[in-house]
Amino acid sequence: MISAARLRSGLSLLRPRDVAVRVDRCPFCGPTLFVRLRREAVGVRCARCAASAIHLVMGWALRDNVQDLADCDACELSARGPLADFLRRTAKSAALSEYFADAEPGAYRDGIRCEDAQRLSYADASFDLVTHTEVLEHVPDDARAFAELHRVLRPGGTMLFTVPLYGGYPTIERARLRNGDVEHMMEPAYHIDPLRGAGILAFRDYGLDIVERLRAAGFAEASVVTSQRRIPWLGAFPVVLSKKAAEDRA
Ligand SMILES: [Zn+2]
Repeated sequence: MISAARLRSGLSLLRPRDVAVRVDRCPFCGPTLFVRLRREAVGVRCARCAASAIHLVMGWALRDNVQDLADCDACELSARGPLADFLRRTAKSAALSEYFADAEPGAYRDGIRCEDAQRLSYADASFDLVTHTEVLEHVPDDARAFAELHRVLRPGGTMLFTVPLYGGYPTIERARLRNGDVEHMMEPAYHIDPLRGAGILAFRDYGLDIVERLRAAGFAEASVVTSQRRIPWLGAFPVVLSKKAAEDRA
């Protein structure tokens, strides 16, 4: 069932001359039709579950890298959409949340838990799996966020996520917070927030040193991985895979 909001968002992407349809497999809902509404990554969707290219990449990465999802207590830094829905019905449990600038971590707004990756309200070692998509580039202090995400993982736990990776080296810091104010080091870049429909500031463009940032935050393993599964019309996208040491050395 396609909701009115999804239909509206689909129609806003539509470029009639770019439209194409292909039969393929979706990691969330199986054999399906994919539709291309326009010739950009944002224009490709699963016709059944509305998964976007980023969701599909995460779906294949979960299937490749997390064999025991039904036994996992999962934490995902979004509360809506195909990835959140998939975790809700497939994982042992799924702690889903959204970021609201004016809400305290752990509070609820319209039934949705509010969390800030820099100061999560979850207890230490709560989860076997942590996921997030296109979030960390918008977090002012990502070192703190990575340390928090490591804290809430159990020993041996996995974090799987996407950020826009530009493939170079090192990460380019575009902006930072100084005494609560945003200081721009470069021309501001805004990414579309699907929940709010507004642009949100990217604090950085991640390079391949993201794996060093993860190790500095305590992760025992960190790598950039690419699934064998191709996204229709778009090909492969990288995902960042990191693991907490099996025995907590703290
Ligand atoms: Zn699907």
